[in-house]
Amino acid sequence: MLNIYWFRKDLRIIDNRGLREFINNTSGEKQFLFLYIKNKNTFRYFGEKRISFLTECLEELKGELTNSGFNLQIVEGKSSDTFRKITDLHNEVSVFCNMQVEPYCTGRDNDVREVIENKGGSFNSFIDATLFEPGEIKNGNGEQYKIYTPFKNKALEVLRKQNYMNHEVDLSKLEKKNEFFLKGLKEYKPDKEYKKYKSSAFLKGGRKQGIILLKDFCQNRLDEYKSKRDYPFVNGTSLLSAHIHFGTVGIRECFRNAFSRLEKSNVDNKEDSRNEIQTWVNELLWREFYYHITFHNPRIIFESFRKEYDSVKWEYDEGKFSSWCEGKTGFPIVDAGMRQLNKEGWMHNRVRMITAMFLTKDLLIDWRLGEKYFAEKLIDLDFSSNNGGWQWSASAGADAQPYFRIFNPGMQSRKFDKDGNYIKKYLPELKSLPAEFIHEPNLMSMMEQKMYSVEIGKDYPAPIVDHKTARAEAIRRLSKMKYE
Ligand code: FAD
Repeated sequence: MLNIYWFRKDLRIIDNRGLREFINNTSGEKQFLFLYIKNKNTFRYFGEKRISFLTECLEELKGELTNSGFNLQIVEGKSSDTFRKITDLHNEVSVFCNMQVEPYCTGRDNDVREVIENKGGSFNSFIDATLFEPGEIKNGNGEQYKIYTPFKNKALEVLRKQNYMNHEVDLSKLEKKNEFFLKGLKEYKPDKEYKKYKSSAFLKGGRKQGIILLKDFCQNRLDEYKSKRDYPFVNGTSLLSAHIHFGTVGIRECFRNAFSRLEKSNVDNKEDSRNEIQTWVNELLWREFYYHITFHNPRIIFESFRKEYDSVKWEYDEGKFSSWCEGKTGFPIVDAGMRQLNKEGWMHNRVRMITAMFLTKDLLIDWRLGEKYFAEKLIDLDFSSNNGGWQWSASAGADAQPYFRIFNPGMQSRKFDKDGNYIKKYLPELKSLPAEFIHEPNLMSMMEQKMYSVEIGKDYPAPIVDHKTARAEAIRRLSKMKYE
């Protein structure tokens, strides 16, 4: 009998539901091992900065297990092949892990389950990546919510402390002598890839870094989250998305922190502070909402949630798509966002919305191309949130932005980056421009261009589309779609 703990998107050894269950079921003389399988195909897209982040997470996790006297065995290959090889040696294998909802992960898990069960073993998965079991929050008819606000209200209504309790993990219950070492499997050595990409990493992987961010945010910025979260130059959000995705910071931990702060503001009767904190809780619940959407509608991996949006005549202009990818559209807020993404592997939420809406509405390019590009670049790539964000921007998703509400990049920029500090950080060629021109430099006269040493078309591109014309065309095409 061999018990395996299979780490996936839960790279921590505290407050981990699956790991706790594994330990509780691995008493006595049972052999056991800790496993991580590195398989490029597991992830639909796997950008280089993500590899660097993931590697840092794995190195730290391995180190922590080593300090406790155990080993993390990291192998390379297809998951079902790996388990097939293991079950060839050990007939009865029990696998413990935390559930994943992404369609390519459920497919993989079904394959692994079959391999394991065919040899008399068991496959056990637990809810850990989300607060609620995907599919658990239902409307009065027992159906999925397609709109966020009633979903959120129901989630808050049924939420109990139990949902975010600490599932403590006690590794000392395991007998070191019973640890089993795999032979004949290809060991994955992350060092090479890690070293290659380390220099470009913006966010640092590993639980230690995640906890530093969580503490810093909860102590210093959570109280002002609602007021500051929309301004990309301000450090107003938690920066936790990649840690939440890889599980170096648990989702229950986030809610515990938020709710303990909410309780405190209730006791202190601080209404303002309560609103600020509640807004962060609401954002965390957007993530739960999108996980539910993926769970109920795995077809969104390829299709629009609103099926009628798959009959939109999208454009596939390679030149315009490249300009968008490279941050050379001539719209500074869009270009700054794309250059932040390319440089740091992360982008502020407000700017994700602006850049995504620009691609889908101003350029009328298929949202799937934008989704794929983000997926290749983002460290925090999370299928449900990324797909949800893209389908929201394209008006194709559940509770999406209505097709006629199209962001004006200049106005968004004036509102959320008034002095142009964010733009100037990522577009140094526009550093000399005053706030008056930073949002739409193409409005400068020839004389002004000379005065500020920014020649449009040479130092910075002219806009690749006219926003007003593009907006009218988007509304014309999208108005033909009917809402359900
Ligand atoms: P905070 O503002 O501190 O929020 C806390 C956490 O709540 C986040 O870390 C995240 O886990 C969750 N969250 C916040 N906003 C959202 C949201 N709108 N939807 C879902 N979850 C949310 N988020 C990802 O984690 N991975 C992605 O791949 C991703 N792709 C996106 C693509 C587009 C086009 C858009 C519009 C949004 C996308 N988001 C994605 C959501 C959001 O932009 C990021 O979660 C957020 O910017 C991360 O910054 P933060 O950790 O400082 O968030």
